[in-house]
Amino acid sequence: MEYGLESSFKIYAGGLGILAGDYLKGAKDYDYPIVGIGIKWRQGYTDQLIGNDGKPYDTYRNYDYDFLEDTGIKVPVKIRQRDVMCKVWKVDKFGNNQLYLLDTDIPENEDTGITSNLYGGFGEDRVAQEMVLGIGGIRALRALGIDIDVYHFNEGHAVFAGFELIREKMYNGMSFEEAFEKTKKEIVFTTHTPVVEGNESHYLDRLMYMGANNGLTLEQMIKIGGSPFNMTVAGLRLSRVSNAVSKLHCDTANKMWKHVDERSDIIGITNGVHLPTWVDEKMIEAAEKGENIWETHCRNKNELIEFVREKTGVRLEPNKLLIGFARRAAPYKRGDFIFKNKEIITPLLEERKIQIIFSGKAHPLDDVGKTIVQNIVKMSKKYPKSVVFLENYDMNIGKMLTRGCDVWLNNPRRPKEASGTSGMKAAMNGVLNLSILDGWWPEACEHGVNGWQFGDGFQTKNVEKQDSHDLKALYNVLLNEVIPTYYENREKWVEMMKNSILSTKDMFSIKRMLEEYYEKMYID
Ligand SMILES: *Cc1c(COP(=O)(O)O)cnc(C)c1O
Repeated sequence: MEYGLESSFKIYAGGLGILAGDYLKGAKDYDYPIVGIGIKWRQGYTDQLIGNDGKPYDTYRNYDYDFLEDTGIKVPVKIRQRDVMCKVWKVDKFGNNQLYLLDTDIPENEDTGITSNLYGGFGEDRVAQEMVLGIGGIRALRALGIDIDVYHFNEGHAVFAGFELIREKMYNGMSFEEAFEKTKKEIVFTTHTPVVEGNESHYLDRLMYMGANNGLTLEQMIKIGGSPFNMTVAGLRLSRVSNAVSKLHCDTANKMWKHVDERSDIIGITNGVHLPTWVDEKMIEAAEKGENIWETHCRNKNELIEFVREKTGVRLEPNKLLIGFARRAAPYKRGDFIFKNKEIITPLLEERKIQIIFSGKAHPLDDVGKTIVQNIVKMSKKYPKSVVFLENYDMNIGKMLTRGCDVWLNNPRRPKEASGTSGMKAAMNGVLNLSILDGWWPEACEHGVNGWQFGDGFQTKNVEKQDSHDLKALYNVLLNEVIPTYYENREKWVEMMKNSILSTKDMFSIKRMLEEYYEKMYID
C-alpha cells in the first residue's frame, strides 16, 4: 500500500512503507529479481500542521512528480459494477528495483479519487483502494509480461490479489478448491501489527457489493477470511508461509492467530534497514577503526541542531544530552510518556539536563493520538529551551534525528511494537537506544553495553499497572545510568556507541533480511 523511497515522494505513511522502500533498494543493491506493486497517491498520507492553538491539523495537497515513467499500460478493475481503469507508472529512480504504481486519477474514470489518500478511510474507500492494489496489481503484472514465481503480500492490504490468482485459475477450468490450493503455493505473507484494531476487517455484504469477491461466492469468501472478513486471516490462509517482523512479534502473532484454522505457519524474520539511506558511513568507519567516534557524532548532532534552529528558531545546546523520539502518534507508543511524572521531569527540563526532540503524526481519525501530539506541543511551549516538536514527520526528519541525537527513546506498551526500525537506524549511527524490551530490541540489547532497556520485559493487560511500572523503570535508568554516563563518563559512552554500531550494522541490515526472505520464504 505504501513505499518510502525518498522523503518528498509522498506515497508513504510510516514504518511499513519505509520497510518496503528499503527492501526495493536492497533488492537493487544485491541483485534480487523482485518488482514492487503499489499505488500512486495523489495526496499521499496527510501533511501535519500545528495550529496556533497547539493542536495538530491535517492538510492535503496534490503532489506532482516529473520522474514517473508512463508504461502506456492501463488495466481495468470492476468496482461497484463499474470498470475503473488503472494507469500503470514505473519508478526506478531512487536506487530501487522497479516499482509499478497504479493510478485511477485519469480522465476516463468517474472514480478518480480512489487513489487520492493513503489510509484515508476505513470503509468502502479502503476496499476500493485494496481492489486496485490487489486485483489491479496482478493484471498490471500480466500486462507488463513479468513472470512471477512468488507473490509476497506485505500486510493484509494486498489479499485481493489472491482472489485474482484464484479467478485466473478457475477461468482456465480449475475448481475453486484446486485453484485455492494452487494459489496458496504461490503466496507468502507478512503480518505487521499486533494491535487488534490494526487488523482490518470488512462485512461480507460490503465486499460483495463492491465486487471485491472477484467472482467468488459468499461461502468461498468465508472459507478464506471468515465473517466478518478479516484481511489478516485471509493473508494467513492464502499463503504457504507467513512471517512476523521480529522474534518477539513472532510469539505474539502466533498467540494472536492461534484460533485460525488452516492457516500457514508464522515464522519470525526481523526487519532490517537500508544502510546507505539511513546510516552515516563515517560513523561506521569510525566505529570499525575505533577512532573519531565522538567527533563524527558531534558533527551529526550539530547538523541536527542547525536543522532544528532553521525549522523552529530553537537553539539547542550541543553539550547537553539530546534525546529523540519520533514515531507515529499511536496511543500504544505513549509519545508523551516521559512527561508523566512532573516532579521528576520538571527539574530535568528546567535545568536543561536533558533536551528532547519529538516528531510524529496521528492518523487523521485518531483523536487520542492527536491529544498526545497536543500534549507534547504544550510541553514545548512551556519548556522552549529543552523540548522541541518538529511538525510533519517524514523521512528527512527521521534521518536527521536518528543520526544527530545522543539517545533514541522508545516506550511502547509491550508487546505492541512489532519491530521498530527507527531504533535500528539510530543504533547504527551510534545513537544509543533507551527502550522497552519490545520489537527488535530484545534481540539486540545488551544493557549498559550497546544501549539500555527498561521495564525488564514486564507485561500485563492492566494498562495502568503497565504504565506505572514502565514509568518508574524509565526514570530509574534515565537518572541512574543514562544521565550520569553522559555527563561523567564520556569514555564509556563512546565505547557504548561503538558497540551499538558494530553489534547492529549487519544483523539488522536489509541485506540480512532479504537473505532470510529468500531462504525461508521464497525458495520452495
Ligand atoms: C524509520 C521510520 C519509521 C519506522 O520507525 P518506527 O521505529 O517503527 O517508528 C517511520 N517513519 C519514518 C519517517 C521513518 O524514517
